[in-house]
Formats: sequence, C-alpha cells, structure tokens
Amino acid sequence: MEAKRREFWFIVGSQDLYGQQVLDIVDGRAREMAEELTKVLPYPLVYKVTARTNQEITETIREANFSDACVGIITWCHTFSPSKMWINGLASLQKPYCHLATQYNREIPNEEIDMDFMNLNQAAHGDREHGFLAARLRLPRKVIAGYWKDAPVQKRVADWMKAAVGVAVSREMKVMRFGDNMRDVAVTEGDKVEVQIQLGWQVNTWAVGDLVKEMEAVTEAEINALVKEYESRYEIATDNMDSIRYQAREEIAMKKMMDREGCRAFSNTFQDLYGMEQLPGLASQHLMSQGYGYGAEGDWKVSAMTAILKAMGEGGNGASGFMEDYTYHLVEGSEYSLGAHMLEVCPSLAADKPRIETHHLGIGMNRKDPARLVFEGKSGPGIVVSLIDMGGRLRLIVQDIECVKPIMPMPNLPVARVMWRAMPDLTTGVECWITAGGAHHTVLSYDVSAEQMRDWARMMEIEFVHITKDTTPEKLEEELFLKDLAWKLK
Ligand code: MN
Repeated sequence: MEAKRREFWFIVGSQDLYGQQVLDIVDGRAREMAEELTKVLPYPLVYKVTARTNQEITETIREANFSDACVGIITWCHTFSPSKMWINGLASLQKPYCHLATQYNREIPNEEIDMDFMNLNQAAHGDREHGFLAARLRLPRKVIAGYWKDAPVQKRVADWMKAAVGVAVSREMKVMRFGDNMRDVAVTEGDKVEVQIQLGWQVNTWAVGDLVKEMEAVTEAEINALVKEYESRYEIATDNMDSIRYQAREEIAMKKMMDREGCRAFSNTFQDLYGMEQLPGLASQHLMSQGYGYGAEGDWKVSAMTAILKAMGEGGNGASGFMEDYTYHLVEGSEYSLGAHMLEVCPSLAADKPRIETHHLGIGMNRKDPARLVFEGKSGPGIVVSLIDMGGRLRLIVQDIECVKPIMPMPNLPVARVMWRAMPDLTTGVECWITAGGAHHTVLSYDVSAEQMRDWARMMEIEFVHITKDTTPEKLEEELFLKDLAWKLK
C-alpha cells in the first residue's frame, strides 16, 4: 500500500564546465542507476535531474517539498558540483535527505584511465564538496558510502527509505483517543501541541459513547464476515462465540470511525469502557495486524509509534507491536524479561498460529470474558522503542534485545507473551533503561533496526538514546548529562 503512493527523487550534481558530451553521459548513467536501483529497492527511485545551476537545484527541491509522492531525496555527485549552487535549494529542503556517496564504475581501469576519465568519474572529489555544505548547513542527513550495485549498500538505502517513509507517516499521523490517560500515570502523558509541531501528529479524543453508538449500528452480516476471517487466520480455542462476535463488533466500529477520520492509530483505557461489555482484546489485536497503531491506558505516544514502526517494517506492515515489560526471570544464567499485556499484543509478533481464547479479566469493568489472541513471540534479535516527553523536548530510547522462545509453557497465563533479554545483560539493561527514563510501554520490533530508528529520530530532530551490548550505566549517565545541556541550548 505504501509503495504505490511513495517515491524518492534522485538528484545528481554536476556543472556546465564539462561540456554537453560529459553531461549526456552523466545523465544516461544516472537514469540507468535509478532504474536498476528501483528494481531492488522497496520504493521507486525517480531520476529527476543532472543539475548544473543554482536555479535547477532550487526548482527541483522546491518541487520535492510540495510533492505528495516524494518522500525524500537522494543526492550524488558523479562529477564535481560546486556547492554554492546547492545552498538556496538545500536551505529550503523540507524532506528527508540521503547522500549516496557512490561511483558509477567499480574499478579504476588500469589501461583506460586518463585525465578525461578522471574528470568524468570524480565522485570522490565531488561528494566531499557536496558533504561539506550539508555539514555547514547542519542539515539532518544520512550518508551512505559504497558501490551502488553491492547488496549491503542497497540494503542500507532500502532501510533508510523505510525510515523516511516513517517520517512521512508521522507527518500524516492522526490518533483517535477513546477515553483519557489512565488516572495518575506519568510516562504515558505528553504535550500534544509540541508533538504536533515536532512530529506532525494530530492527537484528538472521541467519546466512548460515540463508539458504543457505532457498535450498535454494526450488522450481523458484517460480524459474520469478520468472524469468518478470524477463523481463517486463527485457531478458535473457545466455545464462547458470543465473545468473539462482540469483539468483531468492536473492531468493525473502531475501524469505521478511524477510517472515516483518517486515523491510523488509537488508544483506549480500561477505566473508561462506558456502555461496553468488554475491553477490546481480539479487536485491538486484529486491528494492529492490519497496520493500525495501538496504545493501552490512553498511551497515544506508543500507539502512534506502533503505527510508524509497522509502516517502516517489511512490506509496509512489519512485525512490530505494542508491548509492555511485565515481569522478570532472575535465575542466574537464564535472566529474561517477560513482556505481555492484559490482552493487546499484535499477532505479527507470533511464532505460530495464534489461538482465540476467552478468559475472565479482573481489571476494568468487563461484564463478560473478553476474547483475545494467545501465542508465543518469535525468537531472534529485535529492539524495544520508547518515546518520552522530557518537558521541552522528546527523547526516543531504543534498546537492543534478543528474543527467545519462552523458556516455560506458562499454561495458566491467558495472554500472548514474548520473552527476551535486553542488552547488554538483563540487569544492566534495566539499569540503563530506567536511567534514561524509558516507559513500561514500548514498541517491540523484529524487523525495524536501531539504525533506522536513529535515522528517523535525526530526521524528526528529536533526541536519540541507544542502549546496546556496549552500553554501561556510567557512559550512559554522562551521555544523558551532555545531551541535556545540548538540548537546553537548542
Ligand atoms: Mn499497560
């Protein structure tokens, strides 16, 4: 879905000095490169221009700013391109920017090389001049160096494109809040005006009563169709079809309301289910599997981040979901976190086919047992992500994790669960996370990388903290202290 309406623009730097013959060669090669790269990248790379003048560059960047389809620009200098020609254009750039420092040819041809060859193939020279200006302008940008036909280079460009799509999705983000923040909880709060200025998010509330009215209007035929879909995707492990049908009713109503308003994320709270029989469980889970973001207890920040990471993942809806750190296994040698939620864990994290079960839910005002998907999370490397409001700025915290198949079956746990070890080890990882102020709610992702989140944070111009296998609490404290000073100066 994302791939159909998104594209990136390839802008190649040059100048008039070389004569038309050289410019024609550059033009032909740039077109070839964009076409070849489009075959392997997740989004089209559209060759726009081999730019020779300030006016051409300024016009192209102005066009990029106003194009709905253009998500970002990728620049490269086949020849030398004097960077004063780029100042007016780049100073007005409002889209993500990647500098691909590559070269058309892989090898220096021993026999063929002469001064004509050198003048045509001087990216080593031109890309340095180009890079200086972006540094001088303090532009947020991604620099990727390497041969354009090499798979690892293409993979890095692809990953950056997905992060840039995360920027576009962020700027379009609308979050539907059903009910307010859970009473007295701090970390899920935030400045919605600041978030809209910085990240583009429109975060607004709709009455639970309006949702109940929408639920009442859902037809039996609509419910039958959705239950059929549940049956095709999940194993039905309950006789309580009424509960499954009730969740379908909730899902259909929430989806209708969100689609009508153009929202791709929502939050709700068990403290406000006024007029509803059950907290949406299966309903929220199945909505997440379709790419909608979700945050419980009114957590609209994690909800929007879930939708953004999903859009950044494989195929525009990757294995990312709302998560909560619940409890620890602190046995020496096998220390793990157990993550879950009351109900709402996205089935994109599941190792196997999820089961639909119904169980009593004590918390909140559930008059009936809500249906939910129960499964174990996949094993493998991943990240957890938390966006917090530091008062005056936003901080994005990312921690590397290693997920494992849960080490015990936990047959009486009635919810989906994921087990992992945070880097650098469980207890040091917890110390770092708590020192940085990370929330109990996170987005857990198997296919968005920490580098992509760093790119995203840079493009959104917010603080980024990464807890890795090499992080120590001492180094982290110092980093946070220095960042605090830097962000106060901004
Ligand atoms: Mn929670």
